[in-house]
Amino acid sequence: MGRKMNTLPLFGRILIGIVLSVSMGGCTTTPFSLTRGASPDRHVAKAAPKPPAPSKTIRLTILHTNDVHGQLFPIDYDGMQNVGGVARRATLLKRLGAGKPDVLVMDAGDLWERGPLSKKYTGKPEVLAMNAAGFQLMALGNNEFRAGIPNLLQRSREAHFPMLSANARLRSTGKPVSREYVILKRAGLRIGVFGLTAPRTATYAGLSDLVVEDPIQAAQRMAKLLKPRTDLLIALTHIGFFLDRVLAEEVPEIDAIVGGDTHTWLERPYVVYPEKQPRKAIPIVHAGEYGVKQGRLDLWVRPGRQPGPVVKFEGKLIPVTAAIPEDPTVNRVLKRYRPEAGAMPGQPRRKKNRTPLFPF
Ligand SMILES: [Zn+2]
Repeated sequence: MGRKMNTLPLFGRILIGIVLSVSMGGCTTTPFSLTRGASPDRHVAKAAPKPPAPSKTIRLTILHTNDVHGQLFPIDYDGMQNVGGVARRATLLKRLGAGKPDVLVMDAGDLWERGPLSKKYTGKPEVLAMNAAGFQLMALGNNEFRAGIPNLLQRSREAHFPMLSANARLRSTGKPVSREYVILKRAGLRIGVFGLTAPRTATYAGLSDLVVEDPIQAAQRMAKLLKPRTDLLIALTHIGFFLDRVLAEEVPEIDAIVGGDTHTWLERPYVVYPEKQPRKAIPIVHAGEYGVKQGRLDLWVRPGRQPGPVVKFEGKLIPVTAAIPEDPTVNRVLKRYRPEAGAMPGQPRRKKNRTPLFPF
């Protein structure tokens, strides 16, 4: 299937992804451990040259959200009372180790638009809150473009973290809208992270200067560029769960996918065993929407291991409840915006949230 899919147009691949997801369904349970090929050969003759010592296994924690859509304050959501809020999530991030070298905090896009402040401020309070909460990376979602490219560029100047997209560029200059990737040196690892944006973004009104490349092609380009220079390759995507599965099949050099766009709740990582590299397992994680749960993915990484450096992984979503105190630094940043958002400290906005069928 893998090779055939290369020749299919993008929409065809999305359709196949949807069919696959319906027919195969379900997520694996964690913890997940890859043992094949990992155990040393105990039957090597004494005279044989000593095999190189296996490199050290390093645990890396990825804390992730997606499709927060400007929900900076607690809300009532889908039967859960008073959940979410960026100030609580900031406390949770700290408790989970944000700021330590082996912990990365990232968001897979659609940070603003449709929140109580989004229309008036077009993303500014959202970015300031993310800065205060210690976010380190973000992918450009389709909604980051809604208020136009100059607004997006202004927001990325305000952000203390890079906004990534390897497939969004300007028609007029041919240059990428944002950084395509970063290589982070953390916990003894060289970690490559690239962003991907949903292709339909280019069809929005007022964005005639925007070109969005086929994300699979862009990812293949990124893999070629980054794989030789990194120990671990992460795709931070805003292309949706179905296309994330195609991405894992088509670009098996990727070691983990942190995604968004379809507002999909994956309580545990979804695992793809790509046909092109069946001994490899690629976890896909998504954290639903509105930041009412915080995603956590732990990767145990052994640099240079074949067919991939990830020896084991575990993932889960952690409910952001009223039992988690609000971070004072984030609250200070948001203080002036609270009344306009109709939010009181520690209290939910009384808004009925229903997840529509296609909320992207
Ligand atoms: Zn969204």
